[in-house]
Amino acid sequence: MSTSATPTPALPIVILKPREADRVVAGHPWIYAGSVMYAAPTIKDGDLVELRDHRKHWLGVGLFNSQSKIQVRLLTPEHVEVNLAFFEERIRAALALRQRHFPGATSFRVVNAESDFLSGLIVDKYEDVLVVQTSALGMDQRKPLIVAALKTIFQPRTIVERNEMASRKFEGLPDANGILEGQLDGPVTVNLNGLKFETDLSAGHKTGLYLDQQANYQRTAELIALNPNASVLDCFSFLGGFALHAGRAGAARVHGLDQSADAIAAATRNAAANGLAEKCTFEQANVFDWLKSQTAVAPHEKLVPKFDAVILDPPSFTRNRGSVPDALRGYKEIHLRALKLLKPGGLLATFCCSHHVDSATFQDVILSAAFDTRRVLRRVATFGQSPDHPVIPSIPETEYLKGFAFEVVR
Ligand code: SAH
Repeated sequence: MSTSATPTPALPIVILKPREADRVVAGHPWIYAGSVMYAAPTIKDGDLVELRDHRKHWLGVGLFNSQSKIQVRLLTPEHVEVNLAFFEERIRAALALRQRHFPGATSFRVVNAESDFLSGLIVDKYEDVLVVQTSALGMDQRKPLIVAALKTIFQPRTIVERNEMASRKFEGLPDANGILEGQLDGPVTVNLNGLKFETDLSAGHKTGLYLDQQANYQRTAELIALNPNASVLDCFSFLGGFALHAGRAGAARVHGLDQSADAIAAATRNAAANGLAEKCTFEQANVFDWLKSQTAVAPHEKLVPKFDAVILDPPSFTRNRGSVPDALRGYKEIHLRALKLLKPGGLLATFCCSHHVDSATFQDVILSAAFDTRRVLRRVATFGQSPDHPVIPSIPETEYLKGFAFEVVR
């Protein structure tokens, strides 16, 4: 990682307890309060600090916040000044990574916090509009530098701030939404793999839509297209990401379900805007209730499966480790019902965006649902987050999205 060569002016010092430095050396940027042996009394929250191990050997430069459980977020192991040039270089490096691994994308996550060694900063690019989130105090205080760097690199039409995440409270930061640069009049039409999605960047989910699924939309649609004229069910469809890709790839009929009326209205408009209104329909429904009603049978009646492909992309059912058992019951329930609705030879594309449920656990739940429904599955694809959400294995928190595609063998 190259950074500008300006020497660091003397910064206040934070010293770690013994045995706390290895994680940092491996690349993890978080220092919890319990790992700190000494913090210079002159440090103010949000300040840059010099981090040292218990032998006082240099570890790097980070941002300090005594109000946060994460007291220091390391920005760099190098002796550099954290200034405009630093942010410009970091963001350019992040952009180059996307251009290398995700060529052709025009809307993508430019900076994914820890994944790009900028803990507390997210920047999403939606065509010519940028959306910024700062979830750490020190990063929030440096917003003017970040905005200046973004203007130089992207010359965006608009820069929006979407800062209403729960995590800001733990940093002592208030909610803040608004325009940092330029103007935003109405929704933005975002291009994903050549399809158009109308996106409300001032109020949508996440910073607008789910960019992390962009590569998976394409791959899932290719798998669905192996079965010509498929009948597809897209559960938790939101703006119609999977549904529209499936429709374009050759599915005969696609039905999307989401409990949000706004999402259904937007998905319906998106289908029309892409010339897919004939085959893609959307219905406001609770997926659990809908699947239950479709799989209910009278005694001695046999359920006739009607879908060639089912997509399950629910929100995270977990908020923390403690809620994992309930979440697993929820995942099992939707898989049980989805498998009952799938024809033999059909495709199940299923995703889990909970960091607390790893991919082995997720697959176990699916297999247990397959067992209960007497189905045998063939795994034909394994999914992760799109390349604009890089995974740094020494920072486990950077990995959250996992998914599989299975064919129903019988
Ligand atoms: N597949 C979508 C993302 C889904 S996000 C995409 O690729 O863009 C989860 C979606 O599930 C949200 O739109 C939310 O409104 C919806 N949702 C959450 N719980 C639901 C439920 N029980 N029934 C139906 N929709 C639900």
